Amino acid sequence: MHDFIIIGGGIVGMSTAMQLMQAYPEAKVLLLEKEAGLARHQTGHNSGVIHAGVYYTPGSLKARFCLEGNRATKVFCQKHAIPYDECGKLLVATSDLEMQRMQALWERTAANGIERHWLSAEALHEREPNIVGLGGIFVPSSGIVSYAQVTQAMSREFQAAGGEVRFNSEVTALQERADEVVVRTTAEEHRCRYLITCSGLMADRVVRMLGLRPDFIICPFRGEYYLLPEQHNPIVNHLIYPIPDPGMPFLGVHLTRMIDGTVTVGPNAVLAMKREGYRKTDLSLADMWQTFTHGGVLKVLARNLRPGLGEMKNSLFKDGYLKRVQKYCPSIGKQDLKPYPAGVRAQAVSRDGKLIDDFLFVNTPRTVNVCNAPSPAATSALPIGAYIIDKVREQIGDQPGPAFDSTHKQRAAL
Ligand SMILES: Cc1cc2nc3c(=O)[nH]c(=O)nc-3n(C[C@H](O)[C@H](O)[C@H](O)COP(=O)(O)OP(=O)(O)OC[C@H]3O[C@@H](n4cnc5c(N)ncnc54)[C@H](O)[C@@H]3O)c2cc1C
Repeated sequence: MHDFIIIGGGIVGMSTAMQLMQAYPEAKVLLLEKEAGLARHQTGHNSGVIHAGVYYTPGSLKARFCLEGNRATKVFCQKHAIPYDECGKLLVATSDLEMQRMQALWERTAANGIERHWLSAEALHEREPNIVGLGGIFVPSSGIVSYAQVTQAMSREFQAAGGEVRFNSEVTALQERADEVVVRTTAEEHRCRYLITCSGLMADRVVRMLGLRPDFIICPFRGEYYLLPEQHNPIVNHLIYPIPDPGMPFLGVHLTRMIDGTVTVGPNAVLAMKREGYRKTDLSLADMWQTFTHGGVLKVLARNLRPGLGEMKNSLFKDGYLKRVQKYCPSIGKQDLKPYPAGVRAQAVSRDGKLIDDFLFVNTPRTVNVCNAPSPAATSALPIGAYIIDKVREQIGDQPGPAFDSTHKQRAAL
């Protein structure tokens, strides 16, 4: 019997596991991951941006956790000698409409307590000679890191404190009882006092295993990138973002200086035909059936038909994609867009057809389930883990259960 089992070896599961060992040092904790290693899905396929918290609704969990996570991630990196770069971010407006939207973002950043500086077109050009725009906002606290490396460091800390990680362990069935949760994987059966699920693209399927009927579905959105050739590595000094359309959930194609010194362009947002499908041609009939028969997804598609089709077109033909980045960086040409691996976002969609904006957790007496953790959840992973542990503590107090066995470590050592 374990005190805690965690499902999911992405950054959210690993952060929670690590902090769980700190909160309950005597507990017997097991993390189950279906892949052969950590960070194989969203955590290992993202832009690597340590977000500052520019966009999020003031007072939301995203706004709070992103601000805390921005600081906590940097402190964690310093402690574990993980390279990161606080390179700052520039939001660039290229039209009068975007200038108006930028004003709204300026006010939002104030409400979210973020340091930022308003830049005229001249000041923008001075900071970024290759970028054109009518004006911009400079946010100094944004940075870049490899979240796969952060996750590995969390795992080392978790295991050094006595936690266990088991790979190739796909959870296929769950049963919550009055005093325990039974967790079945493809190979084994485990029992625990308390279960925490952080299963990203599979979040809705995992809560269904508990017998819940979630009123949302995970909708997979592929984010496709290009890599600029090496000679373009110095093209920008900061992360460069367009001013997002407030009607769209994603941030727009941006220029990201990665921690290895390269620069990527992207990501876009195209509905994926497979939840863990990283290639354009990846397709799962079962996944498609689930997506396209969900009333909420159909409503989202109907409402966003034009921009959705536009994204698909730009995914197939580079010219449209290029136009989006040339708007603010005209020196990039079609020949500069080299292939780069895509990522797939797990975005929860409600039955009434809304892209659920904030982080979402669903609790039962013996489980906490992370049900919507899209961007900036990598930045926010440390506060998300702390929040989950607070929820656990509210439910079970300082001891995981009446049969909590504080001697298991000594026994294991014998
Ligand atoms: C294209 C893209 C760009 C992004 N850019 C940024 C960014 O710049 N900054 C930022 O902060 N965030 C960014 N994000 C978001 C961020 O990557 C995610 O929010 C974060 O990684 C979510 O972590 P997670 O642990 O919840 O999910 P994941 O990393 O997807 O991990 C979930 C894990 O659960 C495992 N799992 C699922 N089902 C089971 C099962 N039944 N049994 C066992 N294991 C299971 C999976 O194999 C997986 O390893 C981006 C995301 C994408 C896709």
